[in-house]
Amino acid sequence: MAIKSSAKTVKMPAKPAANKNGAQPGYFGAYGGRFVPETLMAALQELDAAYESAKKDKRFREELDSLLKNYAGRPTPLFYAKNLTEKLGGAKIYLKREDLLHTGAHKINNCIGQGLLARRMGKHRIIAETGAGQHGVASATVGALFNMECVVYMGSEDVRRQEPNVFRMKLLGAEVVPVNSGSCTLKDAINEAMRDWVTNVRTTHYMLGSVLGAHPYPTMVRDFHRVIGREARAQILKAEDKLPTAVIACVGGGSNAIGAFFEFIGDKKVQLIGVEAGGRGSGLGDHAARFRGGAPGVLQGTYSYLLQDEFGQVAGTHSVSAGLDYPAIGPEHAALADLGRAEYVAASDAEALAACSMLAKTEGIIPALESAHAVAECVKRAPKMRKSDVVIVNVSGRGDKDIGILREHLKF
Ligand SMILES: *Cc1c(COP(=O)(O)O)cnc(C)c1O
Repeated sequence: MAIKSSAKTVKMPAKPAANKNGAQPGYFGAYGGRFVPETLMAALQELDAAYESAKKDKRFREELDSLLKNYAGRPTPLFYAKNLTEKLGGAKIYLKREDLLHTGAHKINNCIGQGLLARRMGKHRIIAETGAGQHGVASATVGALFNMECVVYMGSEDVRRQEPNVFRMKLLGAEVVPVNSGSCTLKDAINEAMRDWVTNVRTTHYMLGSVLGAHPYPTMVRDFHRVIGREARAQILKAEDKLPTAVIACVGGGSNAIGAFFEFIGDKKVQLIGVEAGGRGSGLGDHAARFRGGAPGVLQGTYSYLLQDEFGQVAGTHSVSAGLDYPAIGPEHAALADLGRAEYVAASDAEALAACSMLAKTEGIIPALESAHAVAECVKRAPKMRKSDVVIVNVSGRGDKDIGILREHLKF
């Protein structure tokens, strides 16, 4: 199977034909696209068409909204973190509480959307990849809700590290398939899921978990998460009667961040800040900060920033948070970075752990270690800002899943 799993540091070929609006579908500037084996093209086109038609269908949108509200628990609060604000002594800090959603993270927004789409396409089997297990749990949840067979591919290393989530997925009726190739982590699980999809494309929907992969995934997954920023924008206008100075979110593949950012992109004065995993150092293999050491290349269907060695082979990554531990970033973030519309920084493992502990103690909220990277950037930045500045931090998930890792690192 010719799955593209190695990076190619090539300049993009001649631009694909523009559609009649001048925009290239599936491209964000030079990034994105659809770099897949021929055998997947029909499936991607089918998905694209189904999504385009669903978007315009009032009943689809109503059902999605209803499930987001009554099943997932939207809207999520925008909480004024008074204690943290006072402790840091600068900007006023608000937390967007995606951690309060059903299954404990933003991922359910996308899974409900794709689940409805799978049903609309008449597919009765869903497959998914998972790293830490959060997307696997959200997929298994939706599989149960929609009475669909659900198979989750997970690197064997992650199966070992994330045992409670493996059990959770099984409890929800999903089959978990350990993947024993490559580094036995997320990237390898995606390869395996793509193999399954090629083989079972007529019956199966591939529920991809972030704004990655070939078109239409980066656009579609973003759209299912736009509700985060849409709510936050209205909530902050209501609370403060003005737009925020900055919106901060952690960036693995980039789905919670693009969801939080998107509604603010047109508000030129609002700073959009993505926080990558700075890991344990700046050497290749010690972090997952694609903008700090990566270069454009193709991985798993899309052209974007990618950590790679001098031969264009995908580099290893490290982060204390499994959800940020991936060598590529969603293509829309690459475009926003090139445009200078969003800024990308990194927080180290140690900074994230400290921020997690600080938020727990000041506000009684234990954030996921992924989200703690966004909190860490806020901890650095807020004291230097004015009291009239307002910052929104997207708390993408709750930290209960990370208790084991926190216990290893934090001593009391
Ligand atoms: C999966 C996950 C992430 C990283 O994924 P993105 O697509 O970058 O949002 C961040 N936070 C939490 C809580 C997650 O579960």
